[in-house]
Formats: sequence, structure tokens, C-alpha cells
Amino acid sequence: NKQVILKDYVSGFPKESDMQVINGTMKLKLQEGSHGIVVKNLYLSCDPYMRSLMTRVEGPNLFTSYTPGSPLTGFGVAKVLDSGHPNFKKGDLIWGTTSWEEYSLITELEGLFKIEHTDVPLSYYTGILGMPGLTAYAGFYEVCSPKKGEYVFISAASGAVGQLVGQFAKLMGCYVVGSAGSKEKVDLLRNKFGFDEAFNYKEETDLDGALKRYFPGGIDIYFENVGGKMLDAVLLNMKDHGRISVCGLVSQYNLDQPEGVQNLMCLIYKRIHMKGFVVFDYYNIYPKFLDVVLPFIREGKIMYVEDIAEGLDSGPAALVGLYSGRNVGKQVVLIARE
Ligand code: NDP
Repeated sequence: NKQVILKDYVSGFPKESDMQVINGTMKLKLQEGSHGIVVKNLYLSCDPYMRSLMTRVEGPNLFTSYTPGSPLTGFGVAKVLDSGHPNFKKGDLIWGTTSWEEYSLITELEGLFKIEHTDVPLSYYTGILGMPGLTAYAGFYEVCSPKKGEYVFISAASGAVGQLVGQFAKLMGCYVVGSAGSKEKVDLLRNKFGFDEAFNYKEETDLDGALKRYFPGGIDIYFENVGGKMLDAVLLNMKDHGRISVCGLVSQYNLDQPEGVQNLMCLIYKRIHMKGFVVFDYYNIYPKFLDVVLPFIREGKIMYVEDIAEGLDSGPAALVGLYSGRNVGKQVVLIARE
């Protein structure tokens, strides 16, 4: 059972060498009376939050840190090989939390979803139809209260979450601008995802000036994926009563000291609604989300770009690549075909 383990806790930017691919062992048969399931992992998802689990976290936290010497955990798509639980049977396809290995024994079954629709690529359940998709949906519709004609800005806009938020906003009739870190990504935003405008933030020396160029009248909704300097510039350009959904702060995840936000007073005098959210709070709307998004995919109204790395051996590089923007679209690792 090939596995990707964390060698030791990480500080600063994670490196491929912080992880190791090893040949572990595992029994593929459940013990008598077990309520767990044994699965064959098919796709693993690379998600920015995984960096925070590579550090030893003291005190209350949303997640439990990885254990050095043990496989990473994360979202994935898997096939059930053996089940001791009445809700799952052999042959079922599932998505949810699994481990970075070929086969896993899963005993924590809460938060696992059975995959009912297989007319779309299975890898989509790591992205558009999985956790990032629900994040985009809940973070935009539930947190931002969008209205037709509003001015929407999205950072890390070509990624797993951002590309969807932009397309949801376009479908709602908003004016949408995204920022991303390369020409290729900016072209995708403009030409594939239908954003009205897009820019490469790495080429802008003055982010405030760039935002004023694209939003002369100000921003109604900011979907925050990166934090730091971008958030600071956005605050200056928000309209009164604007909304910011704080989805993630990926520019800060590898810094020992977070970069300070200077313009927080804008929250007050512009009466901006800035709200953090965690996708788990919205798991109850997953069926409603599927009802909305599956038809969009089937009718070609929403495009989804994936970046698929092949094999567990390519997992560490794929994961580390998220923090330098190497991924173009949703980063997935293909472990096995069904
Ligand atoms: P992406 O697929 O967008 O991958 C990460 C991207 O972040 C990179 O490709 C890169 O794109 C960008 N990035 C990396 N470092 C920096 C930096 N220093 N400054 C600016 N951009 C950077 O990731 P996801 O779509 O999966 O996640 C987007 C955000 O959503 C993350 O912050 C994540 O933590 C958050 N999230 C939050 C959830 C919640 O429940 N609140 C759930 C899921 C995700 P580029 O080349 O454009 O710089």
C-alpha cells in the first residue's frame, strides 16, 4: 500500500522533501464487528488548507495536525471494497476525507458522501462537485447575497474555487473581474470562464491603482481567497455596504508573521459586511447545490478546468505547487482508474 507520509512538521513554504512516498502495509479485510469501510482511492485532492495541518497546532483548531510518519489526509474520491456500515456497500463510489495512499481503512464516516451521478468525470467530486464547489456556491450565494448587476472581484480566480465563483456571478448577471498569477490563467479567466476582465496581480506594482482601473465606481462583492496586500487594496475600493466573503488567505499560509492589513477602518466608514465562513457549515445544502450545479455542467453553462497529476509519486510536487501557483485549475492527483 503505497503512501505519502509527512516526514516532520513544516515551517515556511512546504517542500516536496517534507513528504516521502513509502511502501506501507494494510489488511484489505475488515475485522469482525468493524463499522468502518475499506476503500481503493481513485483521486486525491490538493487543497491549500493542507499546509496548516503540516504544522503542530496547539489548542482548539478546525482541523487536527498531521502526524509525522503517517500518511497525509485530505479529500478524495474512492471506491468501497469492503464495508461494515449499513450506509455503504461494496462497489459504492464515495467522496470525502480519506488518506494519501492507495487503499484506506476509513472509520470516521461522517462527512462522506455517496456519489450518485456518474455521467460527469469522477474527478469532479474533488472539485466542482465536491468541497471546493460547495465552498464557491455557499461563499457566493449564501455569504455575499449577490444581486444582478453588481460589481464582483475574485482573487486566485482561476483556481478550484475562484473559477466557479466567477461563473456563478456571470450567470447571475454581475460584472466580474478576477486576478490570477500568470498570463495563461488570465487568458483562461477571460476566454474560457467568461469573466468581463482579468489581470495578473504579479505584474501590478500598485494594486489599488489596478482595482481603480477595473472598478472606477467601486466593488460591491469581494470573494477573498488570498488576503495580505490584495485585501488591503480591495478595502479602499469597496463601495459602501459592500460584502466580502473571507474564504481563504492563501498568501499568508506560509508566513511566520501574517502581513498586516492597514485599511481595516474602511469596514466601519463604508459599512462593509466582511464575513468568514467554513464550508462544513453548509454541508446540509449539498443536495440543493447538486440540483443547481449538475444541470449547469450537463448543459455546458459552467466549465471546469482541472490540473491532473498522475500517480501518488507526483502528489508531493502537486501539493507544494499550490503555494507557487503552479496549478492551472483544480489540482487533482490520479491514483487509479475505477
Ligand atoms: P487554488 O486552486 O486557487 O490554488 C491556490 C492558488 O492560490 C494558486 O494556484 C495561486 O494562484 C494562488 N496563490 C498561491 N500563493 C499565493 C500568494 N502568495 N498570493 C496570491 N495568490 C497565491 O486553491 P482553491 O481554489 O482550492 O482555494 C482558494 C482559497 O479558498 C484558498 O485560500 C483556500 O484556503 C480557500 N478555501 C476555503 C474554504 C473554506 O471553507 N473557507 C474551503 C476551500 C478553500 P495564482 O497563480 O493566481 O497566484
